[in-house]
Amino acid sequence: MGISWMIASGKGGVGKSTVSANLAVALARLGYRTGLLDLDIYGPSMALMFGTTERPGCSDKEQFLPVDAHGVKLLSMGLMMDEASPVAVRGPLATRYTQQFLKETDWGELDFLILDMPPGTGDIQLTIVQTVQMDGVVVVTTPQEMALIDARKAIGLYQRTDVPILGIVENMSYFICPTDETVHYIFGQHGGDREAVKLGVPMLGKIPLDMRTREGGDQGRPVALEDTGSNRVAAAFEGVAQTLA
Ligand code: ADP
Repeated sequence: MGISWMIASGKGGVGKSTVSANLAVALARLGYRTGLLDLDIYGPSMALMFGTTERPGCSDKEQFLPVDAHGVKLLSMGLMMDEASPVAVRGPLATRYTQQFLKETDWGELDFLILDMPPGTGDIQLTIVQTVQMDGVVVVTTPQEMALIDARKAIGLYQRTDVPILGIVENMSYFICPTDETVHYIFGQHGGDREAVKLGVPMLGKIPLDMRTREGGDQGRPVALEDTGSNRVAAAFEGVAQTLA
């Protein structure tokens, strides 16, 4: 398997899954063989974000076979259950599923594997770090203090477990008014930059708050598939992918 990165956040709802999906698509568009493993067992969103309901297969070695979606090899709990069924699994079972995904998936040849981590800094995150050797972690946050507090905790956890912090992606950084192109800092300004400097890690990119990005997530067509010449967000994700690669 190629290089593997975790995409983590302290807080839920900051756009960790959106960043994971679009980063995977951007890497695939750059020509890298890319896999995406959705480890958000309690809130798997990748089936919706990639617009697929295809069930993962089983290899002759009894391993999961990811599905192909928008050029990315994808595996998610959401592909294994009906949309309506809640994943009401207790901690130990969630840990077992997670370990099974991590150890028993036949990815084939990959350049990069992206892991969409569950939000937070608890047992399940530790299990993941202890189960497989990861090459680095990207922390997603919004610029507001409320999100940064939790991002700090996530960075602390990964530092303690010796996973290199590759940098921060600041999501919902700014909003450009479609009528007059004025820039608005809805969640505050400079939050991610200050944190990156304080922690001595790179700022990998800033993704605006953007309607097409939200729609892409809901409609199964990640914004990173758009033309990078005319779509600012697609270009921003391509930039993050290039920096990381
Ligand atoms: P997390 O994985 O951190 O819980 P999600 O990626 O699921 O967060 O994002 C939460 C919600 O915010 C989703 O509805 C998603 O479409 C939306 N969202 C995320 N990033 C952006 C963005 N840059 N612009 C607009 N909406 C966004």
